[in-house]
Amino acid sequence: MHNYISQLNEAQQAPTLQKDGPMIIIAGAGSGKTRVLTIRIAYLMSQGVDAFNILALTFTNKAAKEMKKRISDIVGSSEAKNLWMGTFHSIFAKILRFEADKLGFPSNFSIYDSQDSVRLISSIIKEMQLDKDVYKPKQVLSRISSYKNSLITVKAYFNNPELQEADAMSKKPRLGEIYQQYVDRCFKAGAMDFDDLLLRTNELLNRFPEVLAKYQDRFRYILVDEYQDTNHSQYLIVRALSDKFQNICVVGDDAQSIYAFRGANINNILNFQKDYDGVQMYRLEQNYRSSKNIVEAANAIIDKNKTKLDKVVWTANDDGPRIKVHRSMTDGEEGRFVASTIFEEKMQNQLKNSSFAILYRTNAQSRAMEDALRKRDIPYRIYGGLSFYQRKEIKDVLGYLRLVINPKDEEALMRVINYPARGIGDSTLEKLTVAANHYGRSVFEVMENIDKIDLRLNAGTKNKLHDFVMMIKSFQVINETHDAFYLSEHIAKKTGLIQELKKDATPEGIARIENIEELLNGIRDFIEGQVEVDGARGALSEFLEDVALASDLDKDTGDDDRVALMTIHLAKGLEFPHVFIVGMEEDLFPSAMSMNTRSELEEERRLFYVALTRAEHQAYLTYAQSRYRWGKLVDSEPSRFIEEITDNFLEYLTPAETNYRYKPMINTDIFGDVDKSKLRQVKPANGTPPKWITDNDPKPDMGIRRLKPMATNAPNSPVAHDSKLAAGNVVMHERFGKGKVLNLEGVGADRKAEIQFEVGGIKKLLLRFAKLDVL
Ligand code: ATP
Ligand code: MG
Repeated sequence: MHNYISQLNEAQQAPTLQKDGPMIIIAGAGSGKTRVLTIRIAYLMSQGVDAFNILALTFTNKAAKEMKKRISDIVGSSEAKNLWMGTFHSIFAKILRFEADKLGFPSNFSIYDSQDSVRLISSIIKEMQLDKDVYKPKQVLSRISSYKNSLITVKAYFNNPELQEADAMSKKPRLGEIYQQYVDRCFKAGAMDFDDLLLRTNELLNRFPEVLAKYQDRFRYILVDEYQDTNHSQYLIVRALSDKFQNICVVGDDAQSIYAFRGANINNILNFQKDYDGVQMYRLEQNYRSSKNIVEAANAIIDKNKTKLDKVVWTANDDGPRIKVHRSMTDGEEGRFVASTIFEEKMQNQLKNSSFAILYRTNAQSRAMEDALRKRDIPYRIYGGLSFYQRKEIKDVLGYLRLVINPKDEEALMRVINYPARGIGDSTLEKLTVAANHYGRSVFEVMENIDKIDLRLNAGTKNKLHDFVMMIKSFQVINETHDAFYLSEHIAKKTGLIQELKKDATPEGIARIENIEELLNGIRDFIEGQVEVDGARGALSEFLEDVALASDLDKDTGDDDRVALMTIHLAKGLEFPHVFIVGMEEDLFPSAMSMNTRSELEEERRLFYVALTRAEHQAYLTYAQSRYRWGKLVDSEPSRFIEEITDNFLEYLTPAETNYRYKPMINTDIFGDVDKSKLRQVKPANGTPPKWITDNDPKPDMGIRRLKPMATNAPNSPVAHDSKLAAGNVVMHERFGKGKVLNLEGVGADRKAEIQFEVGGIKKLLLRFAKLDVL
């Protein structure tokens, strides 16, 4: 037996060693589903299956990368490199590039992110002179998205009176027209949105049997992680591709299905056995991730759901500490509690920042956490906020790059045509758009032919449009002859972007220029990575594709040590030694919007199950009695989910007299003059009354400590990053050449050096990107 197989228990080995046929592994959190998938791929390869014939679909690109890395360790990287691994979106974007012409798209089609989509929908709503308070662009987009994910095309929509009626009932009788316009405009712009990547793949596989046959033949072995969260569109793709060989292995946990609001269909996992013949069903029961307390508490929670498959999850791990529950007066205080606990734990137990995660239901909750972490100088990283690639200055540069690759890209064009300002105003753009719609051409094509069309533009405006077209064409020439880094740097300068930003000398303005520098560095790293594999050609379009499909998690290089902040939705599949689940309040978690039906409430409960099962060692549940929401201070009650955990798994860190659940009888005499705020309540099992303890009491099972007051602004632990670099050093930079370090600032991943280069002047560089040699 291969050595790596012995790293699995018996239940895990069975599905790993079943080479052929359809199979499903349904198992609870932390039971090794992802691990089995990984090892199974290595095993298939050891059995002579060619890496080119294996397709593995994961929830994030990062997960795919990690899997590939583990497989490389086992089978060697030259083989592992050939595996098809990634998210549905990234894999099928690649396939669509090969096949785009069949669908009438250019192979260099752009990918619209949700910002682009919303912007396009807004302009359609405006052009149709509809009320944007009735037709809210984001809502309209999500409606269109749900049609696409259910494979309801525009044509199918207009053939279905029920759908039209439903939209009319919700006061949007013209939704179908918007849908039509939106699809037409994307097509004309040579662009696909995220949902199109799946919808068009389905179209491709349905309409072209020879294409389907080709990919069925290629992907002889298909594996899907987190199968419970696939939507209908994804389901159909997997179904079609696996139809010939039926070597399909899906893993999932119905208890962790949390994307119904985005069209995920739990029936995909429940009905899997009906879809293929002779499905082998496997179950894994042993959890390796979490302490017994956490596993059992999580079991107790999910047990409250009526719709579920019966599953056993147990662990041989230690009991571990109880789940700590903390109440605070306000969300600010909640943040301070979390930050000071992390600070203390780190100090006392020599833990890394990356051992901690703070999970919340809504992104808005991150602010209070951030404030508190910053005050304590604890480095953190937010996932799912405005990601790097969505910052304005970055999108501006990317807008130009996208235009170079695909000049039809209307959203990119609208973003940059008058930024930096070139005197091309809204009325001109409107005329161009109307003409483009009229001729069925892209706006850029209209601009190219501006002399032949009478748009009543004055000569000055025509000149400006002409100049813009020529500029983009000159970039295209450079793209033919130089690498993407050179081109991007050239664009940043020649378009006047950098100059524009330099006008703003505030720290924010400077940060924007630095962001552009960071983007350029990223492009260079990307090219360097590319050369090895594919040669430099095509690097720019591939870079843009990566950027368009990058999720926040994917960018985590893993080498900077930070506390992770993210929504619970994003945390799926991940694990951390210490997990704080904050905002455990009614109307927040469970969300006020998800309490109308049992199925919505059950999805919230599954979300809580996912959150809790991320924790390996210690989980904290925190709630505030009041918090700012929508600009107002609102009172809140503890979440029912706390109540649903059996008491003997919990430890209350705060006195519970204001906790609505308990009215403990406190005999104040016992405590004398002890400050009550320093007491904690321990709720013993068997319904005996809660007990109050002080820090002097023995605590048999959990080593409770009182949080000592601590100095704010405690110095951050020194980070080794390029600590050898000092002002005055003479350095050599790969691209900028020789220079002298003037100044250093920032810590850790933010550490920067200001360098006077012999050629090119003073530059501020992030040390984690700048590869410097001290001379
Ligand atoms: P989730 O449902 O949260 O995605 P999962 O079922 O995919 O969880 P994994 O992430 O594969 O679980 O495994 C959880 C943890 O347990 C990982 O750290 C993994 O390395 C470890 N693990 C799994 N199986 C074993 C085993 N047989 N021996 C030791 N550790 C294991
Ligand atoms: Mg997993």
